[in-house]
Amino acid sequence: MHLVPRSGWKTWLLVTLILSLLIVGVISYLGWRQSVPGVRAALVPPPNFIGLRTPLTLTLTAARGGLAWTELRLVQGTQKVTMAQQTFPPPLANEQRLALTVEGRALGLREGTATLEVYARDGFWRPLRVDDRPILRQPITLDLTPPTLELLSATRYLAQGGGGLVVYRAKGANRTGVNVGGIFFPGFPVGPSDAGTHAAMVAVPHDFPLASPVVLTAQDEAGNNATRAVASEIKPRKFPTDTVDIKEEFLQKKLPELLPERGSVPAGQLLQAFLTVNRDKRRQAEETKRTLSARTQPKPLWQGFFLQPKNTKVSANYAETRSYRFRGQDVDTQVHFGYDLASVRESPVPAANRGTVVFAGPLTIYGNTVLLDHGLGLQTLYAHLSRIDVKEGQEVEKGAELGRTGTSGLATGDHLHYEVLIHGVSVTPLERWDARWIRDHILKPLREANVALIDEGDSRDEPATPPPPRQRRSPAPR
Ligand SMILES: [Zn+2]
Repeated sequence: MHLVPRSGWKTWLLVTLILSLLIVGVISYLGWRQSVPGVRAALVPPPNFIGLRTPLTLTLTAARGGLAWTELRLVQGTQKVTMAQQTFPPPLANEQRLALTVEGRALGLREGTATLEVYARDGFWRPLRVDDRPILRQPITLDLTPPTLELLSATRYLAQGGGGLVVYRAKGANRTGVNVGGIFFPGFPVGPSDAGTHAAMVAVPHDFPLASPVVLTAQDEAGNNATRAVASEIKPRKFPTDTVDIKEEFLQKKLPELLPERGSVPAGQLLQAFLTVNRDKRRQAEETKRTLSARTQPKPLWQGFFLQPKNTKVSANYAETRSYRFRGQDVDTQVHFGYDLASVRESPVPAANRGTVVFAGPLTIYGNTVLLDHGLGLQTLYAHLSRIDVKEGQEVEKGAELGRTGTSGLATGDHLHYEVLIHGVSVTPLERWDARWIRDHILKPLREANVALIDEGDSRDEPATPPPPRQRRSPAPR
């Protein structure tokens, strides 16, 4: 009997063991290679529509090996269209951001639903390919029809620091309005809903050039735009300038109220504290006014001309440019956006027209403030009050008492600071104190467009022009 020598059997076992380990090692290695995740894709924001021109931003992230290639396709039934394709040159990065604009009409597909597919390949070798399937599928709607837009009527003559109205018909749009020199004034549906009639209150800031374009715009969900030029002319207005002397005693008395976070301010820091109030706190208040402008009713609450408090004298005008003097030096310049109306101390403050209280409380330099919304973006502001008698959300009638005049905020004497705002842009109150102005600039375009938005009965009975506010220059409470 011939036996395998003991040493030979041992070698055979060793070889088998090494081979097995090698096979297990190779399989594990290949398994790991295969298990490394492929490319991840994200479209931010996820597009729900593709319109005539749609921007897309695609972010691709590779786990290993860097990004080598990507393709975006649009699939509709059996049709597949490549929207973009890119091969990335080495060295391959693990993250790529692709921004592209898709020209919807160039795709050659019909309007309706489709699926956006993203394919991508990394530079990492795997035993089995993983890049032949889409890594992202996004259902979208292809919409290649821009909204229909027709200008019906508009205020013929606008003015710097003034307002107006544009009436138009828009269909198939979800955002419509008028752009005045870069500021967007949203429109609101008026009349029967199927007619598509809209009205937009517009304003021209006091310092906008006369050539500022006035453009009617409509945009649908797919981002398709329609625009029409509005043939309104902007007339120039002159605005006054004034100098305001800031007294040390005034600051000593007022700063604890205006800068409560600062405590007492030493004499050497009075100027710097005043500038914080006059610049930063003023800017905060202006921002709050703009934010509050969004809280407007989609229908007009006002009727006829706006009330002016009785027996008041104008102590400061709209859009007055003020130089502030302190210890004999010009230290700051700011624009005053309202009318300062002075009467006896703690006079009743009437609501200029029917509206809803959207703000009632302290507002930095404006002190105790009430902001009334009259609908369609038109609002009035009452500042420096000594007392507020209304609450946020309360509806008030024309002439209702909102509170009493006072000296709260940056005010040197008892007066009412009164402002008219259109979507947060301050305009001169003079226009809406004047029934004839309202008739010619607001009611006329409505009549021309055949829209019964505001009951005119009231306005016809009112005097054509209320007496102009009496001017008093000095001494001037602020
Ligand atoms: Zn004022």
